[in-house]
Amino acid sequence: MTQPIFLIGARGCGKTTVGEALTRACGFAFIDTDQALQAKAQRSIAEIVEDEGWSAFRARETATLQSVTQPATVIATGGGIILSPINCDFMRNNGVVIYLNAPVSVLAERLEAFPEEAQRPTLTGKPISEEVHEVLAQRDALYRQTAHHVVDASGSPEQVVREILTALQVARA
Ligand code: ADP
Ligand code: MG
Repeated sequence: MTQPIFLIGARGCGKTTVGEALTRACGFAFIDTDQALQAKAQRSIAEIVEDEGWSAFRARETATLQSVTQPATVIATGGGIILSPINCDFMRNNGVVIYLNAPVSVLAERLEAFPEEAQRPTLTGKPISEEVHEVLAQRDALYRQTAHHVVDASGSPEQVVREILTALQVARA
């Protein structure tokens, strides 16, 4: 299988961390849409949103998603990628989409432990666990609808990689 693998899920579910580990396990290249977008714009997401607003950021995100998609690549996406139906259709039609699903408590714990790594503009201005709860409540159904496979992302990165590989093998059999 050389189809691109798209990792989707909430901030802190491990798209970047697990994505990098997955590429080592399957020999694919790794691309993170947030990182690619920031490198092209030569600005942080926070700066882009401040300068241009969320909708301009979302347009950049769609362009980035499409431009980085190629065979044998693991593509870690931004948490809000599923807000655009264009992105959802594109991912479903051009690769395998994996939802890294983790409970609010796990997501909040990770974001609180490493706030600098998941640095993004706050979406609601509320405390982390409240924001994670609200955002997941709004987006969980979209992640599930978009995904070909839902994988439990609360274990270690190695465990999550194993679950992804199992899901992909089952799909191929
Ligand atoms: P995302 O890209 O989905 O926002 P990251 O990969 O940046 O998530 O992970 C957010 C934080 O959680 C990082 O500090 C990372 O080290 C940690 N983390 C990610 N996945 C796991 C995991 N499976 N187990 C423990 N910590 C993790
Ligand atoms: Mg990330």
